[in-house]
Amino acid sequence: MDTIVKLKDATEQVVLDRRYLHAHPELGFQEFETSKFVAERLRALGLDVRTGIAETGVVGTLRGGKPGKVVLLRADMDALPINEENDVEYKSGTRGVMHACGHDGHTAILLAAAQVLVERRQQLAGTVKFLFQPCEEKPPGGAKPMIEQGVLENPRVDAVFGLHLAQEMPVGMVSARSGPIMAAADMFRLEIKGKGGHAAYPHECVDAALVASQVLVALHSIVAREVKPTEPAVITVGMIQAGTAPNVIPDTALLRGTVRTFDKELRQRLARRVEEVATGVARAMRAECVCTYEWGYPATVNDPVMTELVASVAREYVGEARFAAREQSMGGEDFSYFLENRPGCFFNVGTRNEERGLVWGHHHPRFDIDEAGLPVGIEMFVRVVEKYLGS
Ligand SMILES: [Zn+2]
Ligand SMILES: [Zn+2]
Repeated sequence: MDTIVKLKDATEQVVLDRRYLHAHPELGFQEFETSKFVAERLRALGLDVRTGIAETGVVGTLRGGKPGKVVLLRADMDALPINEENDVEYKSGTRGVMHACGHDGHTAILLAAAQVLVERRQQLAGTVKFLFQPCEEKPPGGAKPMIEQGVLENPRVDAVFGLHLAQEMPVGMVSARSGPIMAAADMFRLEIKGKGGHAAYPHECVDAALVASQVLVALHSIVAREVKPTEPAVITVGMIQAGTAPNVIPDTALLRGTVRTFDKELRQRLARRVEEVATGVARAMRAECVCTYEWGYPATVNDPVMTELVASVAREYVGEARFAAREQSMGGEDFSYFLENRPGCFFNVGTRNEERGLVWGHHHPRFDIDEAGLPVGIEMFVRVVEKYLGS
């Protein structure tokens, strides 16, 4: 079929698109221009396009020349509230907002994969859905509402695939792993109420700062003493706030933290224990503690069969030496919702280049990728689709 716009070869186009998107970053659920850019491109490629799903989400559907299964590919479109420190021609044009995780690359890769697959439409046995989601960086995220709005139905999706560019892995490499690869990421808030007063009269007070300190220490005994050492779990208290002056005993204190787990049962148990330990320790010290638990993304769990499909494609394409088993991470990722609903695989494509100084990690103000990783992403998506639909 003829495309309406004249695009460059996908490997050139992907760099142009990525740079355009990098220069025009938008925060989660505000990806209005990005969404428009994506939708226009997909329409120009002749796909059926649905827009405005969960605010800015877009799905383009490509029906192949022959009947077959339905496969969904996903990219996330959101940037981060970071001020870019790179001095590049495609530097962020919006102060305080930056594509510092590589989602500009994901969006550009998926557009390019759509372009390539449209060219091969007649040979395709099945349907491909190209999904562009808002807000991956901040729970509750864009994946869940998109699924609730039916993106996995009409036509019903059989398998899902997604990728993340990986700055910790050299450019040219691909990695994947079966089973849990990223953690459930929940958050808690502990509001401690003591009794404030004069620093010289502690006996008339209940020192909320001291209670918070004891609670903090007690929380760190949960993973150390109650979780099987071979079972991954993290409790981090990242925020502690109390007091206004050195000679005042604080009336209240606030602790905020995160809990990371792979196992569903452990996830529930730690939520219970954080509350029990915090409220119990506070009570023992004559204070009160109110725990608010915020459930985040569930664990990201790859399907073994789909992971083997990705791994075999990678071994064939980049070669055995450039394919690695992905390391497990306690980070969170809302592709997990797609994997809770359908079998699939979330894999990684390397973008690190030591020689060129492209070594800064995700979410760093100097994060920048080796764009040679972009065509690897395109080729992986295209081959995964062809193999899945062909099998
Ligand atoms: Zn990120
Ligand atoms: Zn990311």
